Order: sequence, then C-alpha cells, then structure tokens
Amino acid sequence: MASTGVPRQQAYGINRRKIGDVIVTMINDGFEDFSFDILSENITKDEAKALLKAANLSPIPRMSVNVYVIQDGLRTTLIDGGDANCLSSGGRLQYALSAANIDPSQVDTILLTHAHPDHVGGLTAHNATPLFPNAELVLHEEELRFWSNDRNFADAPEHLLATRRLALNTFNAYRPVMRTACRGEVISGVTIQPLPGHTPGHSGYMIESGKERVLIWGDIAHWPDIQIPKPEVTLTFDLDRRQAAETRKRLLDMVANDQILIGGMHINFPGFIRIHRDGCTFAIHEERWSPDLM
Ligand SMILES: [Zn+2]
Repeated sequence: MASTGVPRQQAYGINRRKIGDVIVTMINDGFEDFSFDILSENITKDEAKALLKAANLSPIPRMSVNVYVIQDGLRTTLIDGGDANCLSSGGRLQYALSAANIDPSQVDTILLTHAHPDHVGGLTAHNATPLFPNAELVLHEEELRFWSNDRNFADAPEHLLATRRLALNTFNAYRPVMRTACRGEVISGVTIQPLPGHTPGHSGYMIESGKERVLIWGDIAHWPDIQIPKPEVTLTFDLDRRQAAETRKRLLDMVANDQILIGGMHINFPGFIRIHRDGCTFAIHEERWSPDLM
C-alpha cells in the first residue's frame, strides 16, 4: 500500500455563526506559546496548570489566536489580523481565509481591538504594505494616540519598542484610509466598546442584527480557563494591570447578567462562549460547533 503521509498540523479552524441576518465567522490564525512567568503573582504556576487540566486542556501556556469576519451580503469586515508568525505558530490567516472562500480584496473594513503583534501582524507586510488593499482601518482614538507618542516609549525595553514598530508599520500602511472612534456605531450594526487596561485603547465590538448580538471582546481573557474563574489574574503584557483586571471583572459581570454571546481573540475553537456565575466568580459555557447555520 502506498504511503499517504500523516497530517502534521490541524485543519483550518473555521466556525460560522448566524447573528440575525449577519454571518460572523471565527477563523483560527494559529497559537502562541508563552511561559506561565508572564502571569501576575496572585496565581502560582501549579494553580494555573490545575485550571487548564480541569478544563480538559494540556497544562501548557498555549494561547489560541483568532480573528473574526462579519459578512452581511454587502460588506466584508475583518476584526483583527492575527500574528503572521510574529510570535510562534500563527500566521495562517491568509490560508484560512481562502479555505473560508473570503478573498482579502473583498474586505472593506478592518476593526482593530488593539495594536499588539498578534492582532496587527497579519494586516501588513514590511514597509507598510497593506495586505487588505481595499480595506479601511478603524481603531479607538486612544490606541492610535498611545502608540504614536514618542514620549510613551522614552525608557521602553526593546520588546516594547519592537511591538511599537509593528503597530506603526500598520498605521502607516492604512493611514490614508484610517478612521478613529471612541464610542457608537463604527459600521452599520457594529458599535465600538472601549475596554481599556490591556492597552489604553483596547476595545471590543458589539455586532447586532435583528434580535441577536455577539460581543467580540478582544483580549479580555488571554487564557480564558484561567482568567474567567480568576479575573484578578493579569499578564505582563497588560499596560495597566489594575485597570485590565477591573475592566475584565466589570465586563464579566455584565455579560453574565445579560447572557451575551462572546467571541474573543484567545478563545479556543469553536470560538463562541457565554459566561455564567459560579459562586462569587464566573465560568465558561462553550457553544458547541453546529453543522447548521441556525
Ligand atoms: Zn492578544
């Protein structure tokens, strides 16, 4: 029998979800491996591993990286751009978009949650070349202001300067078609939701159609199975740790009360969850993948 080979990586993670008359597609860009050393001191490594094991995950510090696409029949909107191998094993966006039958040239708008490498890396090639040539870029005005201000980086370590270079490369690529917002509707049916702390302009996007809605909450949780039961746990990447934890607690409270469907850039496949109260804290209810676009 001829050898057919053995797959060496996962198939593309794509999950379509109907929200009213709109299709919201979660597309996995890959993953990033870090160290538990980036967690704040209010959790031990063993506690972090135990929470991952309890969620049936490998007890390793691996983050899933996602983007989302909104299609309403008229517009194609991308939320974030994945990491394009800036970090570890991401950068599958262009292939995954192709597998989802979405051509980069049909993307009208890119909504940015924030300007970290795993969110802007896949938007722009070197020398400020946009990879989505017909798209405008929308972001919170505070995010643009923060990364653009030299004074914020006077004593910054090299890793933060490298992060800034990628952010500025993206802003420069899309500058002629860049638009900032701070509240309200940014495109028809989508409102920007400021969620500061992780970065100054970190924002989610609420997509509403008919009687349905989904909040794409960006990086409210990097390791959801750790930070949803323990929202006080922060990361070294949080530019304002106290504010990041406060924002997370406030939002978890709100989405649990209102039973809002959630998508997020570091939520595991299939990429949509709801939050429930669990005593004094919160728990994840994962929405199962469905073969139907119900
Ligand atoms: Zn991220």
